[in-house]
Amino acid sequence: MTLSVRSKPYIIPEYSLTGDLLAYLTCGLQYRYQNKATLPPSMPIQLWFGDFIHGVMEEAFLKWKDEDWKEFPWDWKTQIRDIELLIHKRMESRGLQPPANLFCSYKEESEHQGLCPDKEHPHKLVASVRAEHSINTWGPHLFPLVDDNEVRIKGIREMPHYQKGVSRSNYYGINGIIDVLSSVKLEEASENNLILKYLNRDPVFQEKLENLESDRYEVIVDYKGMMRPSLGSPSWKHHHWQVQTYAWLRSMQPESNPVLVGILFYLNELSLFQEDLKELKREVKDHDTDIMPDGGDRESILKWNPSKKIPSLSQPFRHLRSIRIIPMDPVSIKSSLEEFDKVVDDIESSIIHEVNGQVIQNSWKTNPDKRTCDACDYKTFCPSSYSKKKLTVP
Ligand SMILES: [Zn+2]
Repeated sequence: MTLSVRSKPYIIPEYSLTGDLLAYLTCGLQYRYQNKATLPPSMPIQLWFGDFIHGVMEEAFLKWKDEDWKEFPWDWKTQIRDIELLIHKRMESRGLQPPANLFCSYKEESEHQGLCPDKEHPHKLVASVRAEHSINTWGPHLFPLVDDNEVRIKGIREMPHYQKGVSRSNYYGINGIIDVLSSVKLEEASENNLILKYLNRDPVFQEKLENLESDRYEVIVDYKGMMRPSLGSPSWKHHHWQVQTYAWLRSMQPESNPVLVGILFYLNELSLFQEDLKELKREVKDHDTDIMPDGGDRESILKWNPSKKIPSLSQPFRHLRSIRIIPMDPVSIKSSLEEFDKVVDDIESSIIHEVNGQVIQNSWKTNPDKRTCDACDYKTFCPSSYSKKKLTVP
């Protein structure tokens, strides 16, 4: 009897733009341990919070739309808290636990203290402070403009440096999730809409509007659970690539209209804590940010030091720092796609190294950076961690 030889299944590796490609750019080795390890699931603070705040904003939009919660501000205890707990439950079921001191997961007073300051739950910890500010700041302006939320966008690209018998596949998939704002909703918006105001005074957006051939257009939106990156930072550039690539993915959906700009919301800018303010002070001193403070804000930031209370910065300044409008253009779209091809090429070669018997630490690149390494669970056995908290032998 002869056995038929079954060919290997045809699998196209699928990459999420934020969950895989941007995570890999933050640090390859961390990405590897995070995604493909059999270690207990845990998550660096920024990744957990990024997922959390994204979920909270989506759920808040649904409440606004379906349950008619049109009046802002929303109350934390009676309105926002339930949204937070729902998102926490969902993340927990995927094995994602909140890092210590970031989020209180108790519904009410309990005999357990957990990692909270006392047993008087619920506590409004950092993640909750940020969720409240995000909803109450942008909700009233953003939600009325959303035409379609949580739109899944997906595309396929040729595998870079494809080699038959070596590469895993001749194509790779790339995907993301966006909210879409439509020209129709923008035209209906009230004059006091802050997002409309920012778009109207953006010269590139205006120019694109004038040259538009169709009578419809779109703006795509994504949320970032982090500060606005400094001008010289890799994240600044990576987020630009991300938004260009989203525009490309969106353009392939038949129901889409031309995407004029993308908007990123850097939600941590709405409530800065000590580490954030340290970073902002450095950026202001070095002129390393595109949104500089003036007057009282500038003075408060430069005079502040970690022994003092966090100063309250003006609302217009916080708004401006938390919104980033990125114009789309064909040249940028093409080069951004090429950048992500390179990232996929890197990841795929690391996988091939590992499959061929190389140890993990030799197969994946690292990208030591203080903030990333401090929040990383793998620093104790990372060969190049920036963090000093190394494992010491007793
Ligand atoms: Zn608590």
